[in-house]
Amino acid sequence: MDVNVFMSPKWNFMVLDRITERHKNMNIAIDIEGTVADVHEAFLQWFNTKYDTNFTIKDIDNWNIAKTKLGITTSEFIESLRKLWKQQCTMTLTDSNIPKIIDRLIDSGHRIYFVTAHYEVAPQIIDWINKNRLKHSGFMAVKNTEVKKILSFDLFIDDCPLLVESLGHRLFLYNRPYNTNTKAINRFTDFSELTNRINMWPRRGENESL
Ligand SMILES: [Mg+2]
Repeated sequence: MDVNVFMSPKWNFMVLDRITERHKNMNIAIDIEGTVADVHEAFLQWFNTKYDTNFTIKDIDNWNIAKTKLGITTSEFIESLRKLWKQQCTMTLTDSNIPKIIDRLIDSGHRIYFVTAHYEVAPQIIDWINKNRLKHSGFMAVKNTEVKKILSFDLFIDDCPLLVESLGHRLFLYNRPYNTNTKAINRFTDFSELTNRINMWPRRGENESL
């Protein structure tokens, strides 16, 4: 196989001079809430209006929202998100480049699947995906985050710090104020980084030490 890989033991990374067959055709699971759909922004707009407060995303600094200064329980938070989806509230993309980045990943030969653990609002989420013209090969709604841990995708793009331990190097964790204290192998801040990083990423079982 025509593969050009340069391993550097000193810096422990590898450089590919082209995308090779083994880096194509990966099944990539992309999370919806907090990863591509800015549910926190929609939630904060609703919350700040209702309680006359001025919180920003930086104030959501713990995955467990009950431990933040907002003074809301986890079930109230989830219920309010559910209402926002059902009211067809304006849910923006976390990054306006996301449709373009997904197109590039598909052009590189990967298959994109959207996966959400918020199955109660799956129909509204599907509408939102279509409205935002996000190309994909499939959509999956699972009952909770625990189920995501046993899915056999090659890669996951997600904002949930609870997945770090189980998914290890298969997870690209989207940097958010509520996951910064978690030690993840792969993190990213800007979606525009993703195409190159994913195309240079080794498949499961290869270079496990990376
Ligand atoms: Mg999420």
